[in-house]
Amino acid sequence: MARLARYYRVYPINIVRGRMQYVWDSNGNRYLDANTGHGVAFMGHSNPEIINAIKAQLDKIITVPLNMGNEARDEFISEFSRIIPQGFDAVFPQNTGTEAVETAIKIGKKWTRRKTIVAFTNSFHGRTMGSLSITWNENYRKAFQPLYPHVKFGVFNNVNEVDKLVDEDTCCVVVEPVQGEGGLNVATVDFLKALREAANRVNALLIFDEIQCGFGRTGYTWAFQHYGVEPDVFTAGKAIAGGLPIGLVVAKGELGDVFNPGEHGSTFAGNPVVMAAAAATVKVFMRDNVPSVVKETGSLLAKRLGELNSRVVNRVKGMGLMIGVELRTRAEPYVEALMKHGVLALTASVNVVRFLPPYMISHDDVDLIVNSLSEVLKGA
Ligand SMILES: *Cc1c(COP(=O)(O)O)cnc(C)c1O
Repeated sequence: MARLARYYRVYPINIVRGRMQYVWDSNGNRYLDANTGHGVAFMGHSNPEIINAIKAQLDKIITVPLNMGNEARDEFISEFSRIIPQGFDAVFPQNTGTEAVETAIKIGKKWTRRKTIVAFTNSFHGRTMGSLSITWNENYRKAFQPLYPHVKFGVFNNVNEVDKLVDEDTCCVVVEPVQGEGGLNVATVDFLKALREAANRVNALLIFDEIQCGFGRTGYTWAFQHYGVEPDVFTAGKAIAGGLPIGLVVAKGELGDVFNPGEHGSTFAGNPVVMAAAAATVKVFMRDNVPSVVKETGSLLAKRLGELNSRVVNRVKGMGLMIGVELRTRAEPYVEALMKHGVLALTASVNVVRFLPPYMISHDDVDLIVNSLSEVLKGA
């Protein structure tokens, strides 16, 4: 018998089912899921409306290629239009986040006919060769050199170097308004404004990667709405199809027509089951006013985590329900210890315990997170 190829360090639990913010393992233990598979289950596990939409679509048709029309896809585009700002006229469905980033880069290259991509320290944009080329972490990159060679990394939040960084060779500037994997670093308003001005000056595209920080996660529908700075293109993914695989590129005006037939494509993109799930997810998002719920619960969680009294805690970082507790030591052992207390979390960079819970977590769930972390830090 074959085995599962090993490219993750696997925790010793088997998850068998989930319901909203909770999951259960094969021994019947319940966990509060603040890991959510890197944020995917933000809308909860098996959210009933989303499940019903998936079931209904399964009875109609499972696959329709992008070169034919489909009503589930049309419905998604129509629902999704209600949560994107005016002027973002084109949506490119893809299957994963990294593909969305690849697509965004291709839009930048085709639109400008230039070669250089500007990215930033501590960025994370995905695992395929193009996205990996603009991802900062050496551990993710070093075995796969040479990557795309024309990448300039600037220092995240360093406003002073922006003008030098972005020049006439720049096709696009790619940045996460709130960095996820890289440590929950929040961009400053001045930084994003400087990037917008620099991109305008040389006619390069400004691309925001909102795959982790978008779709309500920060307490805004899109994190960039907190800044009052608009990109030309943004990417989204993770939670938008309620747990099914998805990546999206959203682009302004004519950028939606940048590709000639043949220049871009994807076998599975725009899959009707995924689109039906995503349409239902957007409806739930609007009905429950997810950003305002996140603002409220997120500020409570941040406040309570900020009151933790431990010598290993450095500070609390992040925005909304994208929160990290930065430690003075490696975070991994604490994430593992939290599991024994019934809380699933994850790390960010090396020393941050990251919480990406579903939006509907209760005050009791906040207590569970804070009390469990407080307990495991006692051993520090
Ligand atoms: C997760 C993530 C990606 C990659 O998404 P995949 O679906 O894993 O390919 C890209 N950018 C950001 C900011 C992410 O958090």
